[in-house]
Amino acid sequence: MTALLDELRKLLDSGGLITGEEAREREDGWSMGLSQSRIIVRPKTTEQVSQILRICYEKNQPVVTQGGKTGMVQGCVAGPNDLVLSLERMSAIEEVDKVGRTMTVQAGANMQVVQERALEQGLMYPVDLGARGSATIGGNVATNAGGNGVIRYGMTREQILGLEVVMADGRIISSMNSMMKNNTGYDLKQLFIGSEGTLGIVTRAVLRLRTRLSSESCALVAVDDFENLAVLLSLAEGELGGRLSAFEVMWNSYYEKASQRESHQVPLPVGYPFYALIETAGSEQQQDSEAFQCYLERCLEKGLIVDAVLAQSGAERDNLWAIRDNVESMFALWPLSIFDISLGIEQMQDYLDDIAAQFSLQWPDSFQQAIFGHLGDGNLHLVISVGSEDPAVRHQVEDIVYSTLHSRGGSISAEHGIGLEKRDFLHYSRNDEELALMRLLKQSLDPKGVLNPGKLLSAAE
Ligand SMILES: Cc1cc2nc3c(=O)[nH]c(=O)nc-3n(C[C@H](O)[C@H](O)[C@H](O)COP(=O)(O)OP(=O)(O)OC[C@H]3O[C@@H](n4cnc5c(N)ncnc54)[C@H](O)[C@@H]3O)c2cc1C
Repeated sequence: MTALLDELRKLLDSGGLITGEEAREREDGWSMGLSQSRIIVRPKTTEQVSQILRICYEKNQPVVTQGGKTGMVQGCVAGPNDLVLSLERMSAIEEVDKVGRTMTVQAGANMQVVQERALEQGLMYPVDLGARGSATIGGNVATNAGGNGVIRYGMTREQILGLEVVMADGRIISSMNSMMKNNTGYDLKQLFIGSEGTLGIVTRAVLRLRTRLSSESCALVAVDDFENLAVLLSLAEGELGGRLSAFEVMWNSYYEKASQRESHQVPLPVGYPFYALIETAGSEQQQDSEAFQCYLERCLEKGLIVDAVLAQSGAERDNLWAIRDNVESMFALWPLSIFDISLGIEQMQDYLDDIAAQFSLQWPDSFQQAIFGHLGDGNLHLVISVGSEDPAVRHQVEDIVYSTLHSRGGSISAEHGIGLEKRDFLHYSRNDEELALMRLLKQSLDPKGVLNPGKLLSAAE
């Protein structure tokens, strides 16, 4: 360790290396105090990342990469012998190309800053999620983040044109393509998108930007039957002429907690079974809002929605979204487990009834839940509490959620990734051949297993 620190000190300025208690005490975000590393390096350039990795590779030193530390699956938790590589000093926005509609950034660039810079140029970066103020582009890439706009623009994978990556042994792979079309063999960037820091460290990216849409319509509607939600979604896709940009659903269990915000009135009364936040975006304000209102009226007439509030201003729209984004309110259920699953909409209610029955049977006095999600993408977030922090109990809860999902062909992770938290359940969503190919890739790109060991695949594998 001393030799490692000596080499790192030669390479980095004083702010580039944090050790001992100071490193230990740095909060580790949504990893909830699990990180134990005593060495944090904070490079400023790709060249420094490369040199750090060369040193670590030579010394078999495990490296855990951290961006904004908002990941939900313990992907950036560091053990006592791990070195943390933080991208926080690599946050530059290097270029915005208005004509080519691209932005080139360092991987530590903050997501919200990227969104705002794009808007200033009359463009937009369409990935958006509740942790925007802290999450980084590198973290978004490494987890292939989804969020609120997937229904229209796809996940992070769809927004990445080029990447620069530092490999485990320090080699720099520059694949900073900025063209929409480039079919020249294997699309190497795809290897690293969603690889959770296990195959390489993302240092720079070329992002695809879209035209900023000038008109937005947003409503919160109440629905009393799950089947009506599915009809509402399919009508929105059919009748809104491609304008649909978000279709988020909150069960009352989520809404009643998330809507209680200081000095804010609840936009719709609590107690309806479901709430859908529906948004459209277009470029003709009058036409777009007429089409949206027409759609809402038809849904009311058909009895698909039982109550609705239409945002009349940007501030009202932000208030509706703030309820959807108020994930922190779920801490009222502590101790809890948060799940991020996907499955076909037609199977959702049956699945939810099935797991609720199992939880109620096993923990009749303490079981509580809250459900919300990106219904338009078939993605649900489940917050489950059975009143115990015991790891064995937590494992039982996970097993109920995942094994019940497996028989319905769902995925144990729609968008958060696998990390440490879901690693032992990966076989529920990937078959033996897929797992073997993943291990082969890991072995080929990181033969010594120094990059984020034990995340996604177990270290022994
Ligand atoms: C309130 C809240 C809401 C959220 N909503 C959503 C949502 O709607 N959709 C969604 O998909 N996610 C959501 N998330 C999860 C999280 O915000 C995203 O996964 C985000 O993309 C992680 O970015 P980060 O910079 O914080 O990464 P970190 O948490 O720092 O790291 C996440 C993983 O990526 C790796 N990593 C980080 N940077 C790099 C890099 N430069 N190179 C290689 N590997 C790297 C880490 O090792 C780790 O495995 C939410 C989180 C919170 C707290």
